[in-house]
Amino acid sequence: MRLDPWASTTFKDYARLREQFGLEEFDAERFLPGVPHHRLLSRGVVFAQRGYSPFGRALVEKRPCAVMSGLMPSGNMHLGHKMLLDQMIHYQQLGADIFVAVADLESLATRGQSLAEGRKLALEEYIASYIALGLEPKGCQVYFQSQRSAVQKLGYVLGGKVNLSTMQAVYGFEGATSLAHINAPLIQAGDILHPQLEDYGGPRPTLIPVGVDQDPHIRLTRTLAQASRLIHAIETSDGRIGVFAKSDERVTEMLKAAGDAVHALGFDKLELKASYKALYVNDAGPEDVERLDEALTTVDAQFGGYGFHAPAGSFHRLMVGLTGEKMSSSKPETALFLSDAPATVKKKLMAAKTGGGVTVEEHREKGGDPGDCAVYELHAYHLLDDGELEEVYRGCQAGEWLCGNCKKLAVEKLNGFLADFAERKAQALERLDGYVRED
Ligand code: SF4
Repeated sequence: MRLDPWASTTFKDYARLREQFGLEEFDAERFLPGVPHHRLLSRGVVFAQRGYSPFGRALVEKRPCAVMSGLMPSGNMHLGHKMLLDQMIHYQQLGADIFVAVADLESLATRGQSLAEGRKLALEEYIASYIALGLEPKGCQVYFQSQRSAVQKLGYVLGGKVNLSTMQAVYGFEGATSLAHINAPLIQAGDILHPQLEDYGGPRPTLIPVGVDQDPHIRLTRTLAQASRLIHAIETSDGRIGVFAKSDERVTEMLKAAGDAVHALGFDKLELKASYKALYVNDAGPEDVERLDEALTTVDAQFGGYGFHAPAGSFHRLMVGLTGEKMSSSKPETALFLSDAPATVKKKLMAAKTGGGVTVEEHREKGGDPGDCAVYELHAYHLLDDGELEEVYRGCQAGEWLCGNCKKLAVEKLNGFLADFAERKAQALERLDGYVRED
């Protein structure tokens, strides 16, 4: 089973998805102890992660870290898009730097959208909405792929670390796929890794929060980050933990520096084998590889490498649309847009698919199923605090709280939020310059 990042569909069985894609569960308490958790993190909406620990540790310990996201300007922003922003703003408030790539080159390559058209839509609809939702200019930069030559150059360099067969296996490219489309994931890998270039803040843990359909990009970029390193830690096929140099220059010197870095983490049983370009860490286990590899980024940079930390991915559920399908800009009846008028919100919500009984009598007798209800999802992801949500959940299951009341509550809460949002967005159009970096 492969998820296509350019044509995602709705997947309900998230535990199965985790298993099939080799993702690990996301647990906010475990990864982010002692810091506040956004409801999307604490309510299981962010349900999986890949390599999150180093980012989580940096965030908790207030060390430098970054969150990177891209946007493809297309249509109006809906509540599905808002989920991503809610997470980014939360991470910004906890101290992470924020990078937003306007994927105008990718949009040109995959959708034929002109750069000028993409720019206008990105700024006036998306970035203005991001600001209205609470993104702050400090530590944040919005840029355009077509302008940031460091991203393009890095994408080109990373292209030397992967072959066409791998790209076909990951993305399903065929003979008819345009070369610009094939190149798009490499540019995107450049986007993801460039916050770690010296000019943009230097090597540091980076998180890419995405929908699960974007996992192929995360996996590819993690592989490319590792392939770009001069030195890294791995578990060998015979179960040993080793640090291996991939360069032919200053190998012994580099391994000795690695020994110092590894020793500083508390490991003592080190065995240097210069002929294998290896330093074995005999008192380390597989659970230590990530930590060892993180420590080696400094050594890598010191000897002329990029020092890339493998970027982490966190995966949130794809929001179910009002009709039961995935929310999509191209199907307005499925989505609630941030620009919807109050009457439209009311109309869409009153017609939404719920998990309630067919009749009021049946609902009262058997109770509803909030786990299969687009309105409950809206409450859980966007509208209600923990106490209110629990009340809705219990009342629904007990058949005491009816779908009509539930929808009215959603209309009232959402329209209140959207009225406020519209005002803030109008003001945000004047503040774009504080966010956009033209390089
Ligand atoms: Fe959904 Fe609310 Fe109806 Fe329960 S009462 S099924 S949560 S709309």
